[in-house]
Amino acid sequence: MSDTVLRDPVSDPTASYALEPSYVQRLTERLVATSGQSVPTTCPFNGQPLGSIPQSSAGDVAEAFRRARRAQEEWARTSLDERQAALLRLHDLLFERQSEIADLICWESGKARKDAYDEPLHVALTARYYGRTGHRHLDTKRVAGVVPGLTRVEVNRIPKGVVGIISPWNYPFTLALCDGLPALLAGNAVVHKPDAQTMLTALLGVSLLEEAGFPRDLWQVVAGSGRELGPEIIGRSDYVCFTGSTATGKTIAQQCADRLIGCSLELGGKNPILVLRDADLEKAAEGAVRACFSNAGQLCVSTERMFVADQVYDRFMERFVARVEAMRLVPGLSWGSDMGTLISQAQLDAVTAHVEDARVKGVRVRTGGRARPDLGPYYYEPTVLEGVTPDMQCFGDETFGPVVSVYRFADEADAVARANEGEYGLNASVYTQDGDRGRAVAKQIRCGTVNVNEAFAATFASIAAPMGGMRESGLGRRQGAEGVHRYTETQSVATQRLLRFGPMLGLSDERYAKVMSAQLKLLKKLGRA
Ligand code: NAD
Repeated sequence: MSDTVLRDPVSDPTASYALEPSYVQRLTERLVATSGQSVPTTCPFNGQPLGSIPQSSAGDVAEAFRRARRAQEEWARTSLDERQAALLRLHDLLFERQSEIADLICWESGKARKDAYDEPLHVALTARYYGRTGHRHLDTKRVAGVVPGLTRVEVNRIPKGVVGIISPWNYPFTLALCDGLPALLAGNAVVHKPDAQTMLTALLGVSLLEEAGFPRDLWQVVAGSGRELGPEIIGRSDYVCFTGSTATGKTIAQQCADRLIGCSLELGGKNPILVLRDADLEKAAEGAVRACFSNAGQLCVSTERMFVADQVYDRFMERFVARVEAMRLVPGLSWGSDMGTLISQAQLDAVTAHVEDARVKGVRVRTGGRARPDLGPYYYEPTVLEGVTPDMQCFGDETFGPVVSVYRFADEADAVARANEGEYGLNASVYTQDGDRGRAVAKQIRCGTVNVNEAFAATFASIAAPMGGMRESGLGRRQGAEGVHRYTETQSVATQRLLRFGPMLGLSDERYAKVMSAQLKLLKKLGRA
C-alpha cells in the first residue's frame, strides 16, 4: 500500500485530501457493480471526496447471489476445523493491520482514533470466540429419545444458505464483519450491502477475509441505495441480518415475513445510565463521558439519558461537566483526540434540531450545544442538557449524536421506571459500589444488555454473551450461541431400533395403548425427561 494513502489529511498539510485512486480501485474491484454509475465517498473531517464507488444494479445483486450460492455449496463441505482456522488467521491479521484499518476508518467516518481502534479489536474478539467455540455450538448433539436405549436422537445444525447482511456507517468495520463471521463458521455464504458513506472500510474488511483464507466468492459485496437494493437482497436471502434504524428494521421485518425467512435486527436505542447514591463518582463520571460521547454519540449503545441520585447529583455533575469540558476535539488521524466529528450534514442537522428544539422549550444547556465549523464541517460539541421535559424531541427520540439529558431521582424504583419508559430497550448502565445491588437493579431494566460500573464495552466486548435489543431496539441477538445459531436450521434425526411405535407381538391396539401408558408413567417415576 502506498504511504500517501495513510497520511493524515488534517495534520499533514502535504497529504492529498483524496485517497490514492489505485488504493480505492483495489478495494472497489471486490464489488459486484456493473451499472456504470458511481458515487463519491467523502472524508467527514473536511468534506472532501475520497474516491468513487461503482454502484450495483438489481442484476448485480442477482449475480452476487449466484456466485455466493456456488461458493456456499463447497464451503458447507469444508470441516469445522478448517473454518475455525480461517477465523483464527483473521484474528492475527487484524492485529497486524490494525493501524491501516484505523486510518481508513478515521478517513471515511471522521471518528477519533481511539474509537476507530475499537473496531478491529471487536472483530478480532469475535473471530477468536467463534474460532475457538465452533464445535461447542455446531457439533451434532445427542438428546434423549422417547424410549431410552432404543430411540437414538441427534440434532444437526444445517447452514441456512446465503445470508443477506445490511450494515450501517457508524461502526463501519465491525458492523460489516462481526455478524458475518458466525454465518461463515456455520457454513453459510454472505451477500452484503454496507452503507454508502463507508463502503471502503467495509471493503477493506472483506479483502482481509480473503487474505485470511476464506474463498473469495464466499462474501459478496454490492453498493447502492438501501431502498432499491434492500428488496433485491431480501428477495433472495435465506436469512437477513440488519443493523440500522428502527424504522428501516420494521420495513425489513415485513419483507422477511412475506418470504417466511428469519431475520435479526439490531436497531436504535435511547439508553439510560443510573448513578445510584453509593456510586464511585469519579468512576461514574469517567464512564459517563465514554458512554455518551464515544464516536460522538453515533453509537447504538450510547447513553442519551442519565438518572442521578439526588444525594450525589451536584457532586457527580461537577465531575462529569468538568470532564466533558476538558475533552479534546482534534480533527485528524492521530491519537489524542477525545471525540471526532459527526459523519454528515444530515447528522449535524438532526443533532442541531434536537438541541434547538429543547433550547426553545427552555432547556438548560450545561455545556456544549454548538456546532464547531472551525474544526470541520460537521463537528458538534459534546453537550449536556438539564431540565429536559417530555415535550422536547430529545426526551424520547434517539438523537444519535453527542447530546445527553440528565435527570435527578429521589427514589430508585422511580429511576428504574423512568429508565424503562419509551419504546427502546437496547443498553443500560448502573453505577454503584455494591455489585449485587447493581445486578439486582439490572434485572429490572428492560434492555438487552446492562453494564454494572461500565459504559457499554463490558457487555459489547464479551462475545460469549448475547447482545441485542428488547422491544423496538431489535429482534434476535448477535454474539454468543444465539449469534451463530440464528444462521442454522436445526434438524432432528431419530433412529429407532427393536421397539416400533405400533402394536407388536400380537397385541391389540387397546392393549398396546395400555402398555405404552404404563411405560410412560414408569419413565416419569424414574425421573426421565
Ligand atoms: P438506516 O436504517 O437508515 O440505514 C442502515 C442501513 O440500511 C444502510 O446500509 C442503508 O443503506 C440501509 N437501508 C436504508 N433503507 C433501507 C431499506 N428500505 N431497505 C433495506 N436497507 C435499507 O440507519 P442509519 O440511520 O444509517 O443508522 C443509524 C441507526 O442505526 C441508529 O438508529 C442506530 O441506533 C442504529 N444502529 C444500531 C446498532 C445496533 O447494533 N443495535 C448499531 C449501529 C447502529
